[in-house]
Amino acid sequence: MCLSDTFRRQSGVRLLPPMLYKAPANPGPIRVKKKPEVTLDPENWAELRALGHRMLDDMIDYIEHIRERPVWRPIPQEVRDRFRADLPHGPSDLAEVYEEFERFVVPYAAGNVHPGFMGWVHGGGTPVGMLAEMLAAGLNANLGGRDHVPVEIERQIVEWARQMFEFPQGSSGLFVTGTSLANFIAILVARTAALGKEVRKRGVARDGAKLRAYTSAAAHRCIPLAMDLCGFGSGALRMVPTDGRCRIDLAALREAIEEDRANGLEPFLVIGTAGTVDAGSVDDLDALATLCKRENLRFHVDGAFGALLVLSPELKPLVKGIEKADSIAFDFHKWGQVPYDAGFLLVRDGELHRETFITPAAYLRPGAKGLAAGSPWFSDYGPDLSRGFRALKTWFTLKTFGTDRMGEVIARTCWLARHLEARVRAEPRLELLTPAQLNIVCFRYGSDDRVNAKILVDLHESGIAAPSTTTIGGKLAIRAAFVNHRTQTSDVDALVDAVLRLGPLAEEEFRTP
Ligand SMILES: *Cc1c(COP(=O)(O)O)cnc(C)c1O
Repeated sequence: MCLSDTFRRQSGVRLLPPMLYKAPANPGPIRVKKKPEVTLDPENWAELRALGHRMLDDMIDYIEHIRERPVWRPIPQEVRDRFRADLPHGPSDLAEVYEEFERFVVPYAAGNVHPGFMGWVHGGGTPVGMLAEMLAAGLNANLGGRDHVPVEIERQIVEWARQMFEFPQGSSGLFVTGTSLANFIAILVARTAALGKEVRKRGVARDGAKLRAYTSAAAHRCIPLAMDLCGFGSGALRMVPTDGRCRIDLAALREAIEEDRANGLEPFLVIGTAGTVDAGSVDDLDALATLCKRENLRFHVDGAFGALLVLSPELKPLVKGIEKADSIAFDFHKWGQVPYDAGFLLVRDGELHRETFITPAAYLRPGAKGLAAGSPWFSDYGPDLSRGFRALKTWFTLKTFGTDRMGEVIARTCWLARHLEARVRAEPRLELLTPAQLNIVCFRYGSDDRVNAKILVDLHESGIAAPSTTTIGGKLAIRAAFVNHRTQTSDVDALVDAVLRLGPLAEEEFRTP
């Protein structure tokens, strides 16, 4: 008996016998009246060219003279309101649109191009990356697949990343928006490793319920989010306590794994961090690799910014063991100075990576020859089908500067953190909350959270420097992270001097009369 019979009997609904159903009449092709030719190319190429040259000059001027501007400034309401306009049905003059951009967008950017930007972990970008981005947009390449050299350039970056991290031949990699997405993909690959590719059909409910992953309490919030998105739930992730240097406590990790096993759970994945957001700590990756090998667990590294320490011969020992990971997520847009966005994932077992995503479809059948060739396609390694040409700005950046110079920039930003630490230690009114481990220092003025929160807002509004805040040991901290290659010692000094100047004013505000 078919389902509909049962349904009819139970519900009392009378269905017409199938032969009485009539397919709707074919409405035929949509009728469109003959149209005049229409294109979005300019009528006057010479005008466009002149304006384009001006835009380029203006933007190069902007970067060259960025120091003369405030890092950031508050957005006036009238400016905000401009961007709540109605949908434009008619055209506007490009020159006018550009003028709007110059007047109302450029002055109110976040400021991470500016050397005084020290908040969160933001890259500074380079004019080289900007130019490459323009070229990429001109080609309008879609790197989902097919046979064209832009795809070869992304393959070249995969190969360079493989060499950077001493991964074996057969490793795979791809550009994604950022490390958040790269971590998510890495956990999906770990899911395939643990449950086989059948999990893609069955889902995790049956076989995945007992799987457990481990990371440190200082890990980025995108890790629990990724566990949630993968269907395991963030509850399947244990956030292991950290040691005195904000690194994962190895003894506590071993205990957690044992305890879970004793309770019938199945540990499958450890995620180490190279460069925590709060303090710039690096987990003992070598020890984690050894532990994972012994316990037969997968080992992923969130190296959003810290992974690129491999480019500095002096600092590379800090991430020893990263070369043993099963996968590494990192960003070229942070310490790599490539303009946003340029996240990257490198996976040791390229086949496993591909099995996690490959989904054949008739309209995407790769060819042996012709434009549809060029297998394997990048769209078989992640959730995206259409993909931009992030590889080009990264290729230009790596080739133009060379990795040695990029390593020097990284080492230099770590030195700036040491300089800040020394200045904080020398000032009795400042308290050092985390010493410079890499490029990050947390400190505060006096002992009142409210005063420090006020100093931070005043600093931002002054346009002198833009650090961010975090909480260290229950105390509100001013957190300075040096990522921008333009930042100099004088910018660090300007930050400290401004905090010392704004501190007493902020204290005044909270003094009870
Ligand atoms: C920045 C960061 C992330 C997130 O990377 P996005 O590129 O912003 O997605 C993850 N982990 C760490 C340690 C980070 O610093």
